[in-house]
Amino acid sequence: YTPALLTILAFSIPSGLNAEPYQLRHTEFGWVNIAEHNIWDIIFYIYYGSYTILGMVLLASWGKKSQDAVIKEQAHLILLTILTLLVAATYTDIILSSKVGNLPQMAPVLMLLPVTIIYNTIRKRQEKQENPLQFSFSYIHIIISVMFYVFISFIQIRLEPGIITIGQLHLAESTFRGILTQSQMFISIYLALRESKPGYIISMLMNTTNLLISLVFWIMMDFNAPLPGIISYVNVLIILLIIRAFRKQSAMYIEKIQSQRQDLKESERQLYKLAYYDSLTGLPSRGYFIEKLQQSLERADRQRRRVGVIFIDFDSFKAINDTAGHMVGDLVLQQIAQRLIKRIGEKGTLARFGGDEFLVEIPDLETDEPIHAMINSIMETLKKPAVIDAGEYHVSASIGIAVYPNDGETPDTLIKNADIAMYEAKGRGKNQAVFCTDDIKDRTTMNHTLMNNLYWALDRDELQLLYQPKISVETTKIIGFEALLRWNNSEYGVVNPEVFIPMAEQTGMIRPIGLWVMRTACLQIQQFQEWADCELSISINISLIQLRDPSMIEHISAILEETHTPPHCVEVEITESIAFQDEPFIMDQLRRMKGLGISIAIDDFGTGYSSFSRLRTFPIDLIKIDIEFVRAISSNLHKDQAIIRSIILLAKNLGLKVLAEGVETEEQLQFLKEQGCDFIQGFLFYTPLPVSGIKQLLDSSQKTRLSALP
Ligand code: C2E
Ligand code: MG
Ligand code: MG
Repeated sequence: YTPALLTILAFSIPSGLNAEPYQLRHTEFGWVNIAEHNIWDIIFYIYYGSYTILGMVLLASWGKKSQDAVIKEQAHLILLTILTLLVAATYTDIILSSKVGNLPQMAPVLMLLPVTIIYNTIRKRQEKQENPLQFSFSYIHIIISVMFYVFISFIQIRLEPGIITIGQLHLAESTFRGILTQSQMFISIYLALRESKPGYIISMLMNTTNLLISLVFWIMMDFNAPLPGIISYVNVLIILLIIRAFRKQSAMYIEKIQSQRQDLKESERQLYKLAYYDSLTGLPSRGYFIEKLQQSLERADRQRRRVGVIFIDFDSFKAINDTAGHMVGDLVLQQIAQRLIKRIGEKGTLARFGGDEFLVEIPDLETDEPIHAMINSIMETLKKPAVIDAGEYHVSASIGIAVYPNDGETPDTLIKNADIAMYEAKGRGKNQAVFCTDDIKDRTTMNHTLMNNLYWALDRDELQLLYQPKISVETTKIIGFEALLRWNNSEYGVVNPEVFIPMAEQTGMIRPIGLWVMRTACLQIQQFQEWADCELSISINISLIQLRDPSMIEHISAILEETHTPPHCVEVEITESIAFQDEPFIMDQLRRMKGLGISIAIDDFGTGYSSFSRLRTFPIDLIKIDIEFVRAISSNLHKDQAIIRSIILLAKNLGLKVLAEGVETEEQLQFLKEQGCDFIQGFLFYTPLPVSGIKQLLDSSQKTRLSALP
């Protein structure tokens, strides 16, 4: 700053340092300084030149070193402006002032140019960061245009009246002035159009200045100077204003487009929410959960960690919907979801899988311990009832857990295995959590395979009937057989009916299978009767699904006719819980069946619940006491023995026959005999046998054990 201070001392303050700092002369532009080129002037030139060059070197290295493209551009611009200033100011203040001598100092005015540029580059940079969608403009254009404009202004000022000669061209002064003014107009409009706001402001400033100067000139010349110049400047100003108005309008449209863009973004967000969030509970949806889980699995794979997937299904939630309505059901779900999300917090992700099913993911685990803690926490949360309008709703849940990597490596497998474990929890009596195990997985896979194979069992001739003889207690002779179904599966061997009958019921396959059983048993009993040479009965088990089939009676009737089976030799067995259902249609079906002439037995009696009135009104012939009560005879459980006694007594009083199932010991036989039980069935005499076994039996000396139909 020393040279600057020195310059101020030499030129601004009368300090005696510089004897003649200024040589002022009065011209038509006012007082103008004439350079003397004394020692101080030379010092000033050196200072001014070297500092400017130094500044430019600094600027250049700043731009070169920076990695930021914006800074590079900034440095480049300022450098260029200062270079322009250096050239322009040297020309106006040194060359022109020393030669011509009647120009005021222009450098301080030109100095405004780099100041404006620096200010604007800073602002532009901020704007770029805040709003990248702004008009950008180029300073090169502005600088060159301003230089041209100012240059033309100087020419105009310097123009002498008369003919102007440029090379071969001879022009009148007024024509040349006109061309110059038109060029200025062109530059102004070009700037305003091309360089938006800065271009507009600069054009306005330049033209206003020129208009004012022209006006002053016009007044000074006593209104004798030509008017076209003034009119041109006024016109340019008007055109500039119009351009400005037009620009404002465009900006408005752009703003509108931008706001529409925002709206679009907002709807996009909403759509995302719809796809990834459940609208009822506000929880993430299945899609979001799967994506999140996928990320956790990838992380767990890298870090050798575990990930827990918990499947929650509320027990008997349908009951709440059915009794209190779906609105209350929804509110209960919302309340429980809120509570769960509070409990789970940052430890995991809760999502709604659908209906009353929820999923939790616990990522980044080293042990299973946090999963146990989480399950306890969830169970604890569910202990408190949901309260809706002063009504309390208790909701328990069955929970299944699968852990990565043991129970699967993809979101799909993990969720599927957690679901399987959840079903296991339901099967074990609900309101509990079950971890997925190999055993559970194998069983599910087996069930799945069996279920698929069951469709082909009939076509592939894999079904077989076994026959278990029924014995008269009094004579100990065979009075008939119960047909018991077996499935010889190619993969799993002999499958018991307890396993595949529920599957057949689920898939509806029980209807064709049931008819096959009926036809096969009817044909078989006639062969048995031939071998035994006496009338024997055949018992056939019928399931609820078959009973509900309105065409079943017609089918049975057709089979009896087709196989020429006397209906009184056929007995259908229906379990107690099914037979006594409160469905008038079932009662109807039983009556129609009875109408065909076949007898009806109530299977597994004592395990369901039947009222006396039903026993009286239902068209039944026989009661089969369930194996559980028969077992109780040997274990001396007095209450169970009392029940058997009562059942037999009740049956006798209602005129029904009684059969005891699963008799395995002499003791049981003895007890039943004492109580007056009519028939027995059990391993004590025979296990269920294939046709060949029955043939042997009937052919052998045991023929003595046969008796006529009761
Ligand atoms: P259920 O009708 O009560 O059949 C009696 C079951 O007890 C048979 O089992 C039989 O093998 C078994 N059993 C007989 N005596 C004894 C004994 O002394 N001790 C023991 N522990 N068990 C004995 P199975 O053959 O496995 O049949 C199970 C159930 O499957 C049957 O129970 C019946 O409800 C159903 N079922 C069998 N075949 C058919 C069918 O063709 N259609 C329908 N819908 N269900 C069938
Ligand atoms: Mg049975
Ligand atoms: Mg039974």
